[in-house]
Amino acid sequence: MTAPIARTALRVDGVRLLDVLARLAEIGADPAGGVSRLGLSAEENEGRAFLRELARDAGLVTETDAAGNLFVRRPGGRPEAPVLLMGSHLDSVRQGGRLDGAYGVVAAVEVLRVFASATPWLELPYEPVVVAFANEEGALVQYPFWGSRALSGQLADGLSARDRAGRSVRAYLLAAGGDPERLDAAAWAPGRIGAFLELHIEQGPVLERRGVQIGVVDGIVGRTIFDAEVAGQVQHAGTTPMPDRRDALAAAADVVLGVRRIAATERLCSTATVGYLDVSPNVTNTVPGTVRLSAEVRDTDPERIARAEAAVREVCAEVEKTTGCRVTVTVAARSRPVSTDPLLRRAIAEAAEELGLTRLTMPSGAGHDAQMVAEIAPVGMIFVPSRDGISHAPAEDTAPEALVCGADVLLQAALRVQELVTAVEFGPAAFGPAELDPTELDPARTGRHPTTTDDGGGR
Ligand SMILES: [Zn+2]
Repeated sequence: MTAPIARTALRVDGVRLLDVLARLAEIGADPAGGVSRLGLSAEENEGRAFLRELARDAGLVTETDAAGNLFVRRPGGRPEAPVLLMGSHLDSVRQGGRLDGAYGVVAAVEVLRVFASATPWLELPYEPVVVAFANEEGALVQYPFWGSRALSGQLADGLSARDRAGRSVRAYLLAAGGDPERLDAAAWAPGRIGAFLELHIEQGPVLERRGVQIGVVDGIVGRTIFDAEVAGQVQHAGTTPMPDRRDALAAAADVVLGVRRIAATERLCSTATVGYLDVSPNVTNTVPGTVRLSAEVRDTDPERIARAEAAVREVCAEVEKTTGCRVTVTVAARSRPVSTDPLLRRAIAEAAEELGLTRLTMPSGAGHDAQMVAEIAPVGMIFVPSRDGISHAPAEDTAPEALVCGADVLLQAALRVQELVTAVEFGPAAFGPAELDPTELDPARTGRHPTTTDDGGGR
């Protein structure tokens, strides 16, 4: 009889991981380039169906919740145990890349396959469960973080979500296998999730530039978005002398540069951006009368965000004073910054160390599902380098070896989390997953090759 393999020697199957990623990338592959697998679209439904079948073929059990989130777990796992949730999202932006979100989901499924097939059976205090969150990007149905908001109980006004054409989320949700009438059932009670680990591509240039293999995320930025309107006077571009003008676009340009300075030279926050301008009347020989613009500031520190918010208002007030244009500014949206859990950071760092990988503690400049889950559970995030820092574009890429390394860090970090929490006293069934369909939990009853899928629509 061969000795059981040591936990520290467990590794993902890299070939299998890359193969599944490549097959998933074909779902929603855009003829114009990249992947267009928009949240709650037929393509995302097809992606879920693909994963569901893959999981069942691997002897795992699946479940779709009322919000369209897909869960995968080990057969025979303890439903009453707190959950070690691993995963990310399946959807993309229009003509996005094949790795944003999808990588974290596919790697988590791979890790679960290794756990489920380990001999002897891995007794784990936190039952590992994979989640593929629905509609993180909000590119079709305009409600970003849809799935992770539902899970963390932050979807109170969910049914008001619509696509750009004004169509309600209801039909989309039904096609995704969700249930608009029971959206509340998708929320998990605080305490049920012992920890959430999200593996993701960095989507920026830091790791690649510094030649580091693994990012240990210490915080996810919060963001404040402003809507501003600069009102001047529409005038003839040829006959109005320069001193007589109230040029809204020239004033807006001052706003753009002033906002940029808040981060670039005054360093009040990590980034400050004006990304949207709507110029009226936008005519060559007319002095612009009105400009609507959006500005946003981001940082991991709420106090710095507050200072940057004040600075945006000061910039607008200053422009109003110096140009004679009226500048009105309002906060359109705020998300608060989130810190990752120190124990989970330690688990990730030790896993990287164990695997001989270099690592860097760094913030995430992009929002992620982990930011929502942090509302109800400790979260940890692992980054792998993005080639040339590119993301949300067809050129988004990460070296295959780096993808495999990241998945191994997820696996080893997940095991370390288990060791770090063994001292914790667990509650009884309060931690157990509610609202599970028992037929989905019992592979003997569902069979491993179901003739019907529960995605309710698919393509
Ligand atoms: Zn993402």
